[in-house]
Amino acid sequence: MSDEPTGPPMTDNAFLGPWQGGARDPTFAGALSFMRRRYSRALDDVDTVVWGVPYDAATSNRPGSRFGPQAIRRASAIFDGDPQFPSGLDPFADMTVVDWGDCPFDYRRPQDVPGIIEEQAADILSHGCHLVTLGGDHSITLPLLRAHAAAHGPLALVQFDAHQDTWSDVGGGSHGSFVTTAEAEGLIDTSHSIQIGIRTVAPDDFGIEIVDAYEARELGVSGLIRRIRERVGMVPAYLSFDIDSLDPAFAPGTGTPVAGGLSSADALMTLWGLRMLDWRGMDVVEVSPPYDHADITAIAAATVVQHYLQIRAEGGGG
Ligand code: MN
Ligand code: MN
Repeated sequence: MSDEPTGPPMTDNAFLGPWQGGARDPTFAGALSFMRRRYSRALDDVDTVVWGVPYDAATSNRPGSRFGPQAIRRASAIFDGDPQFPSGLDPFADMTVVDWGDCPFDYRRPQDVPGIIEEQAADILSHGCHLVTLGGDHSITLPLLRAHAAAHGPLALVQFDAHQDTWSDVGGGSHGSFVTTAEAEGLIDTSHSIQIGIRTVAPDDFGIEIVDAYEARELGVSGLIRRIRERVGMVPAYLSFDIDSLDPAFAPGTGTPVAGGLSSADALMTLWGLRMLDWRGMDVVEVSPPYDHADITAIAAATVVQHYLQIRAEGGGG
């Protein structure tokens, strides 16, 4: 006998579903939220908040990552709370994750946006929640790091990226300079920070360890996992996943694509191998749906977060 409920499946789990457990919306229907989690800004007893920051005004080349949160949510609908790969568990069986919606800001006042992101992130963190951010361009990571460092102290930055993002921060409006400012403000512990997948040349490394894309390929997944674990240790860590760390074959929909990058399988296997780190938060940025094809990039980004939430459910992170 099947215990499958009879009658039409309930839709709009994002508004009507239980706080934990799976959703039964068809993948192609219903109100979208990340992995069909309930939309909520009531954060008592919430473990993890997923929200979007649809901001791309700091993009240097191809814009469009303001549409990233919507596309990632849509791609995540296929992960509906059933047992998930690779843990084999339903991450929402005992863990409450909500979708907060998107960070509200006035697009006419881009100079105000970093402060608004930081303030709102700090408010979410003040409830004791873990925060997962869907970008947006990579400039949003700076205010996110400010909020997280205020809560946890300097963080080991684990950055997947084709770019070091250590260019000079003239005016504070570039998506290629968050590391420069984060280092200057003491938000990151550079001696435990590491960048993976780099394949461009920037002026500074600030002592951050770099495993460029070619070296990562030579190391292989297990060697790469070992390098990152040795570097980060058990220092509180923040994951910033720039989707352009992946090769354009695996992430065409991004603002500054660079050939020769990681495969999505290698990146996901590496992330899964880092589940014992002391994670304190994460973002996935630079998904630009206007340049995407067949949702390739949005699916990759949604899967990065799906893996991270399984790590949370297994007790990873503070
Ligand atoms: Mn970046
Ligand atoms: Mn990049």
